[in-house]
Amino acid sequence: MADTNFDVVIIGGGPGGYNAAVRAGQLGLKAAIVESRGVLGGTCLNVGCMPSKALLHASELFEAASGEFAHIGIDVPAPKLNLIQMMKAKQDSVGALTKGVEFLMKKNKVTYFVGFGKIEGAGKVSVTAADGKVEQLTTKHIVIATGSEPTPLPGVTVDQKQIVDSTGALSLPAVPKHLVVVGAGIIGLELGSVWRRLGAKVTVVEFLDRITPGMDTELATQFQKILTKQGFAFKLGTKVTSAKTGKSGVSLTLEAAAGGNAETLEADVVLVAIGRRPFTAGLGLDTVGITPDQRGFIATDHFKTSAPGVWAIGDVIHGPMLAHKAEEDAVAVIELIAGKAGHVDYDLVPSVVYTFPEVAWVGKTEDQLKAAGVQYKTGKFPFMANSRAKINHETDGFVKFLADAKTDKVYGVHILGPQAGEMIGEACVLMAFGGASEDLARTCHPHPTRSEAVKQAAMGVEGWTMQA
Ligand SMILES: Cc1cc2nc3c(=O)[nH]c(=O)nc-3n(C[C@H](O)[C@H](O)[C@H](O)COP(=O)(O)OP(=O)(O)OC[C@H]3O[C@@H](n4cnc5c(N)ncnc54)[C@H](O)[C@@H]3O)c2cc1C
Repeated sequence: MADTNFDVVIIGGGPGGYNAAVRAGQLGLKAAIVESRGVLGGTCLNVGCMPSKALLHASELFEAASGEFAHIGIDVPAPKLNLIQMMKAKQDSVGALTKGVEFLMKKNKVTYFVGFGKIEGAGKVSVTAADGKVEQLTTKHIVIATGSEPTPLPGVTVDQKQIVDSTGALSLPAVPKHLVVVGAGIIGLELGSVWRRLGAKVTVVEFLDRITPGMDTELATQFQKILTKQGFAFKLGTKVTSAKTGKSGVSLTLEAAAGGNAETLEADVVLVAIGRRPFTAGLGLDTVGITPDQRGFIATDHFKTSAPGVWAIGDVIHGPMLAHKAEEDAVAVIELIAGKAGHVDYDLVPSVVYTFPEVAWVGKTEDQLKAAGVQYKTGKFPFMANSRAKINHETDGFVKFLADAKTDKVYGVHILGPQAGEMIGEACVLMAFGGASEDLARTCHPHPTRSEAVKQAAMGVEGWTMQA
C-alpha cells in the first residue's frame, strides 16, 4: 500500500505543481503530487503552451512552403494540408513531454496520485480516483497549484464544436472558412495565427480599442499593422453580446463597446479567448477557512495563504498567468517550506507572443513610465537594419530599450521581431543584475545574429547606435 503521510502534498500537476514536486524531492522533502487529469503537465503541457507552439511551428512551415520557399529558390509543389497528421504530431510531442514529467516525479522520489484532491482540514487531503476510490493523505504542508480555466463569455455558450475555447481551438477537425476570435489577447492572436496560416479568414473582435493589453502601446500598434498585413481583420472597441448556432454556422451579435446599434457577424467557428480565471472548484478551501477573492484568486503573502500550512502558487494566485511564473513560484514556495529564502521578482517576468513576428518584453512599458512620471531615455533599433534579419527576409519590427534618464538603469526592454522570445532572456538577466543599458551596449554579441539588434538598441540609449 502506498505511503500516505508526507511533508508536502501538492494539488495540481501543472508547471507550478510539478516543478514544486521536483524541488521538494531535491531538497529531501517527502512529497506527493495529486492530479485529476490522468496525466501530468497541467494546462501548459496538455492544452496550453506546448500544443499551441506545436501548431504555431507546423503552420508557420506550412505558410512558408506556400510562399516564402519559392522566393528563396526552393520550388515545391503547392503544399497540401494533412490536418490529421499535424494534430497527431502535436499530440505525440505532448505525450512525450508529459511522460517526461512523470519520469521527473520518479527521479525525485515524488509519489504521484491520480485523482481529484480535496483539502479536508489542516494537514489533510483526500484523493478521489476516477473509479470513486478515495485515499486519505496526511501532510505537514499543502501547496495549492490548481491553475486556471478559460473565462466564459456571458451570452456565448462554448460547445467545443462551433463555439470553442482555447482547448477546442487546439483540436479543430477542419480549417474553418471564417474564424472569429473574441479577444485580442495573446492566446487569441496565437491561435488565430495558426488557423489563418492554414487557410481560415480570421476576424478578431475586441472590447478594448487596442490589441494585447499590457504590451507597450508603440509595439502593439506596430504589431497590429503587421497582423493586418498578414490578413487578420480587427473589430476593436466592439463587444459580443450573443451567439446563435445553426446548421450553417454561428451568428454573433456585436455592439460598439461604448453602446450603439447592433450588427451581426457570421462565422463557421468562434473562439472565445477573453482570458482565464483561477480554478478552485471542489477544493475544500472552506475546510481551512480560505475564501477566494472576488475574481476567484487565493490571496497570499509570499505564497502563504490565510490558513497555516497551506500555500498557493501559479495561476491560482495573483500575478501573470504564465507557466514560467508558476515555475518560479514553485521553486520559491518549496524553498520557503524547507526554511530557505525563496523569492520571486514579479517585475522581471517576461511576456512573449509566439506569433510571427514574435513580441517579447520584460519590465516597464513606456506607458507605465509616463504614468509614473519617471524620467527615462529610449534606445531603438529596427530589424530592417539588422543583417541577419535582412538575410532571412524577417525585417518587420524593432527593439526598444527604456532606461533611467540619470542612472541609465534599464526599466524595460521590448522586442517586436523574429525570435523575440529567445532574445528577451538576456534583458531579463541584465535587469536582474540591476544593469544599465551601457552594460549591454558594451557586451560583445555574436555576428550575424538578430541579438545584435538588442545591442544596437541599447547603444541607442546613449545615442551611439552605429548600424542605423
Ligand atoms: C492556449 C494556451 C497557451 C498558453 N501558452 C503559454 C505560453 O506560451 N507560455 C506561458 O508561459 N504560458 C502559456 N499559457 C499559460 C500557462 O498554461 C499557465 O500559466 C500555466 O499552465 C499555469 O500553471 P499552473 O501550474 O498554475 O496551472 P495549470 O497548468 O492550470 O495546472 C493545474 C492542474 O491542476 C489540476 N487540478 C485542478 N484542481 C485539481 C484538484 N482539485 N485535484 C487534482 N488536480 C487538480 C488541473 O487538472 C491542472 O492539470 C497558455 C495557456 C493556454 C490556455
